[in-house]
Amino acid sequence: MNKLNEEEIKNKMLNFYFKFDSIKFNKCLEPSMTCKNTAIKAHSVQNSKILENLIDNGHVCTFTHKLIQNSFPKIEFGLLGRNEATTFTGLCSTHDNELFSTIDKDRIDLKNNEHLFLLAYRTIYKGLYATMDAAFKIQIAYLQKIDLGIDPGDKQTIACELATSRLMISHQTWLYKTQFDNILLNRYYDLICHDTFIINLKEPTIAVSSLFTIDKFLVDNYILRIVLNVLPVSKTKTYIIFSYLKQHATAAQAVLDKILNSTDSYQLYEISRLILNHCENFVLSPTYVKSWSSSKKDTITKFFKDTIFEGNYDFHSPELYLF
Ligand SMILES: [Zn+2]
Repeated sequence: MNKLNEEEIKNKMLNFYFKFDSIKFNKCLEPSMTCKNTAIKAHSVQNSKILENLIDNGHVCTFTHKLIQNSFPKIEFGLLGRNEATTFTGLCSTHDNELFSTIDKDRIDLKNNEHLFLLAYRTIYKGLYATMDAAFKIQIAYLQKIDLGIDPGDKQTIACELATSRLMISHQTWLYKTQFDNILLNRYYDLICHDTFIINLKEPTIAVSSLFTIDKFLVDNYILRIVLNVLPVSKTKTYIIFSYLKQHATAAQAVLDKILNSTDSYQLYEISRLILNHCENFVLSPTYVKSWSSSKKDTITKFFKDTIFEGNYDFHSPELYLF
């Protein structure tokens, strides 16, 4: 076999990265993990009742990334069609319907523990899917490097460590989800705690469905995980719901202290910082984003980009406000 020169390898890798960015992991992640059906594009934020309140001309606004040769991907605001927004291919249509029809059909009731559980549970599916998709892509990239002779494949290299660490994160997230699977099977919904807020706005601005971790914050030797849902349930009303395992309540409430013990616009400011620091799966109203100054847009984009790998708890600016 002819040995590829460096330029050919680089081009091949680059083409490959572009190609595999559009390859999506596809598996129904229902509790038994045995379902063989093809996963559909399931919405992590309900489309017809929640996203509906943010839509402008069929679109929402979100961060998009463009791959740039030999450089960090460019992150900027862009429009996304409502049928793509917040979707993931981690459930087949039968299981999506079987598990979540209650919250898809009924009006969400913040006093109903089953509703609150199901909202958090769906977010965990999306979170687990995201870790599996990332592990899957990095694994393919690693195998491609071995094929091209860039990585030896039998020694500890950075690419090998990266691939292994993504698998570990995915495995830990799956273990976390199995606790929720058990709660669902036994209907022990009170093993999950929720902090809920109803806010009244002139116009809805944002929807979030995110399973997030706090850097280096461990409980029971595992990274602390918290679910955040921000749901514009009408043109004037938005629900904000934090959910976590009861056994993690002390740690979660310590992390959320500033939010839980504040009110009004300061509380919403701290929630905004948390979203930009820790969450990826959120969409904004295009009308709202259009009303921002270019300085606000730049501040938010920079803060989001700078905190992709590690949170920034020191930076403050009123421009980070998202409500
Ligand atoms: Zn299924």
